[in-house]
Amino acid sequence: MSIANHLSLICERIRVAAEKAGRDPASVRLIAVSKTRPVADIAAAVQAGQLLFGENYIQELVPKLTEVQEAVHWHFIGHLQSNKVKYIAGQVALIHSVDRINLATEINRQWSQLDRICEVLIQVNISGESTKSGTTEEGAVKLIRECALLPNIKIKGLMTMPPFFDDPEAARPCFAELRRLSEVIAAENIAGVDMTELSMGMSGDFEAAIQEGATLVRVGTAIFGER
Ligand SMILES: *Cc1c(COP(=O)(O)O)cnc(C)c1O
Repeated sequence: MSIANHLSLICERIRVAAEKAGRDPASVRLIAVSKTRPVADIAAAVQAGQLLFGENYIQELVPKLTEVQEAVHWHFIGHLQSNKVKYIAGQVALIHSVDRINLATEINRQWSQLDRICEVLIQVNISGESTKSGTTEEGAVKLIRECALLPNIKIKGLMTMPPFFDDPEAARPCFAELRRLSEVIAAENIAGVDMTELSMGMSGDFEAAIQEGATLVRVGTAIFGER
């Protein structure tokens, strides 16, 4: 099946999952995760109407920023080292993976030099697995309060990556917990902080994530094939 066929199937599954959950399908945005995929695959997805792409690695995203001719939107979804932020300054619409204040401070510094504001999500390690990035649930509020003081950063919500890749039911409690946490944080009414976005759900579990409130699903394999 072509990338276009995969995309239309995924969009249909998103629509069905949203409607089942009593949600407006337009409240869920699909991020096509194009890591390790060639520029031709991205072009094929754009041809099929997909304009939002997610990348994990700076060294891979940077060349794609110029090689991809189409006017796409990039989200950075991978682990980010502070010393690499400068390579993507001003070039991504959303960074999903802010999990420590040093990183937030560097993003703020880079975007302030451009006199722009960077929208970010706070990545939370819900499962507590030590191999996963993300702030702890307990640390999230403190980190958000610190980030909220940085004038060139705008917090839009939370992101998580559960440890279970292909078992949606195993991942579901993590999704539900991220949503609960976002409601707790929203109730704190921290100045300048939005809790409108929940980035959760991948190829194997995006429907469960949508049922639990995802507004951004990050799908790679189910669009582009196995990496
Ligand atoms: C690779 C990746 C995805 C996409 O995973 P698939 O299982 O291929 O859909 C989503 N989010 C992050 C953070 C990733 O690294």
